[in-house]
Amino acid sequence: MEYVVIAIALLVVLIVGVAAYVVPKRRRELPPSATGGTGTDLLERPPVREAEPEVEPVAPPVAQEPVVVEPEPEAAPVLEKPEPTAGRLVRLRTRLARSQNVLGRGLLALLSRDKLDDDTWDEVEESLILADVGVEATRQLVDRLRERARVLGTGSADELRKLLAEELTDALDPAMDRTLISHADGRPAVLLVVGVNGSGKTTTCGKIGRVLVADGRTVMFGAADTFRAAAADQLATWAGRVGAEVVRGPEGGDPAAVAFDAVKRGIETGVDTVVIDTAGRLQNKVGLMDELGKVKRVVERQGPVDETLLVLDATTGQNGLEQARVFTEVVNVTGVVLTKLDGTAKGGIVIAVQRKLGIPVKLVGLGEGPDDLAPFEPAQFVDALLATDA
Ligand code: GDP
Repeated sequence: MEYVVIAIALLVVLIVGVAAYVVPKRRRELPPSATGGTGTDLLERPPVREAEPEVEPVAPPVAQEPVVVEPEPEAAPVLEKPEPTAGRLVRLRTRLARSQNVLGRGLLALLSRDKLDDDTWDEVEESLILADVGVEATRQLVDRLRERARVLGTGSADELRKLLAEELTDALDPAMDRTLISHADGRPAVLLVVGVNGSGKTTTCGKIGRVLVADGRTVMFGAADTFRAAAADQLATWAGRVGAEVVRGPEGGDPAAVAFDAVKRGIETGVDTVVIDTAGRLQNKVGLMDELGKVKRVVERQGPVDETLLVLDATTGQNGLEQARVFTEVVNVTGVVLTKLDGTAKGGIVIAVQRKLGIPVKLVGLGEGPDDLAPFEPAQFVDALLATDA
C-alpha cells in the first residue's frame, strides 16, 4: 500500500513538472515581435504605449475672425495725386449738363413763350415731374414761381429762368449742413458707407478716400462687404492708388469683425479717417437691420460712428427712394451720396431724395473716373441742371 501512495505522489510530481515545462515553451513559441524578428522573449519587447485617450478638441477662443491686413507693397508704387475737391462740381458740370440739357432746354423753351398761360405752366410742371423732382415738390415750386413772376410782372425768359433757378436752389435747402466729418479729436473719424449692391458703394468708398487724401487726410479702408467676392479686391486697388491700407477678412466672414479691426488698425496707425464699405444685400429688412446694426454696434465699442453715408443710384429714380427709406429706418443716415448722375436726365431726384428723407445730399457721383465724385453744391447743381449749352 505504501508503495501505491509513493507511486501516486511521484506521478503527481511528474505531471506538475511536465506541465511547468510545456506552458512556458508554448509562450516562447508565440510569433516574434514585429521589430526584433529574432524571437526574443516577448517580455523584452518595448512596452507598447497605451493608446492616447481621445481628447475632445477644444476650439480656440476666437473673439473674431482673422483679419488680413494688406501689407504695403514692397516696391513703392507710384502714388496718384487726387484732384483737389474744391471746384469739382464745376469741372464735372458738363457731365451733368449733358444728361440734363433736355430739361434745361425744354424749360427755357417753355419760359420763352410770349404768353405764359395755364397750359404752359402745366408743361413746366410736367417737365419737372419727368425729371424726378417729385409731384408735391414740383407743385409747390411752380406755384411759387408763378406767384413771383406775377408779382414782379416778369416776362423775359432769362428772368424767369433765374427765378426758376432760385426756386430749385431753395427746394434743395442750401442751409443744410453738408460737411463730411473726416477727422475727430484724438481718434480717427469713422465713416460707414451703406447702400444696396450695385449702387456704386465700393466705388464711392474708393472715391471718398481720394477726396479725403486730396484734402490732406490720411485714410484706412475697411472691406466689410465680405459677401461680394470682388469688393475687397476692388477696395484694395483703390487704396493702393493713394497709398492707403485696407483691412479685409475672409470671404463670407463676419462684416462686423472686419469693421472692428479696421477701426482698431486705424487707431493704431493714427489715421484721420476710417472708411468702411458694407454689404448691401436687401433680402429683407430684418436681415439688413441685424447686419448693419451689428456692424455699427461693434464699431462703437471703440468710438462713435461719425458719418453713415447712404449711397443711392440716381438712375433708379423713385424706386431708389423706397430702398433708401429702409436704410434710414435701420441706421442713422447722416448724408446721401447720389451716384450715376451722369447717366440720367432725371437730376431732379436730388430734390426728391432730400425732401423725402430729410437728409442732405453731401456728394454726387458723376462718372466712373477716380475723381468723378464731387461735394454737392445746390446753386452750382441747379445751374448745371438748367444748362442749355452742353
Ligand atoms: P456696389 O455693388 O454698390 O459696391 O457697386 P460698385 O461700386 O461695384 O459699382 C457698380 C458700378 O457702378 C461700377 O461699374 C461703377 O463703376 C459704377 N459707378 C459707380 N459710381 C458711378 C457714377 O457716379 N457714374 C457712373 N457712370 N458709374 C458709376
